[in-house]
Amino acid sequence: MSEIRKHYFLSEYCIIAEERAKRPSDFAVADENSEKHSSKNCFFCGGAEENTPLATAVYKNGKIYSDTPEKRVRDWDFRCFPNLYPALSPVPESPEQEENELQAEPGYGFHEVIVETPLHGTRLEDFSNSEISELMQVYRDRTCNYATRENIRYVSLFKNSGEKAGASINHSHSQLLALPFCPSPLVRELKVIRKIEKCPYCAIYDLEKASPRLISKNSEWIAFTPYSSMGPFEVWFLPQKHVSFLGDCSDKLLFALGDILKATLKSYGRILGKPSFNYMFYQLSESPEYHLNLRLLPRITAHAGFELGTGTYINTVSPERAASYLR
Ligand SMILES: [Zn+2]
Ligand SMILES: [Zn+2]
Repeated sequence: MSEIRKHYFLSEYCIIAEERAKRPSDFAVADENSEKHSSKNCFFCGGAEENTPLATAVYKNGKIYSDTPEKRVRDWDFRCFPNLYPALSPVPESPEQEENELQAEPGYGFHEVIVETPLHGTRLEDFSNSEISELMQVYRDRTCNYATRENIRYVSLFKNSGEKAGASINHSHSQLLALPFCPSPLVRELKVIRKIEKCPYCAIYDLEKASPRLISKNSEWIAFTPYSSMGPFEVWFLPQKHVSFLGDCSDKLLFALGDILKATLKSYGRILGKPSFNYMFYQLSESPEYHLNLRLLPRITAHAGFELGTGTYINTVSPERAASYLR
């Protein structure tokens, strides 16, 4: 029989309806990075710097540089530039909007691409420990860079990998959107968190650190499949230390995050092949009661009418079983 599970602290539900015949190998997919996507004409590759907007930050041997119209920085480790088709832009003051019952304002914000390697076809799980740790430091740096801008209320940092995850370019990269409003999932969480005495994420850490949903643990973080997962093999990463955003994280904490993230992506590779995946940071720079977390979801099932209409997800692999495979 299926099971209706409630979220740890929100009034949100998921349905665990296991299809017992299904093994992880039934979800496995081949590498989408093969002949269909080559490095030919890829704008993100090292050497193709002229094809993107001017870089806002280029990380090279531990130092930060930026492009000038006359000269693009070469031989970089990480390269950040504004999205060529930005969802939001740092627009100047705009003309008065017409007053009516509907609300709109200029699409102010920042939309940045973070290219994670100059090499086409390199995946995060292939990174060395120091490379992935440096990437986490770049994430911290870019988050702080935008969190302090005027009228920015939220920094959304995420990675789309593979077509099913919404990546239009198959060269390892992440994106950052700095928004002038706080998105509703965070507002919903904060509302509840402010009413509870103990941080619910600290409580989740205590609950999951030795649960059947634990995948791995290092000195700073746990990786686990959440009790009410929105899909098969969803993984959350939670630091033991209560920090609210990446700007609060020490180098040690970030190194440990890179380590546990890479290990989990390797586990995906072992049992799911090369699935498309998304990961998203949940963080708030000005709400110390919030507890930073990272969520990873392989895109191996489609969310359809029921999910869109109800916000309720049907998960065909229980988190306990998923964790047993991922361990
Ligand atoms: Zn490329
Ligand atoms: Zn906490």
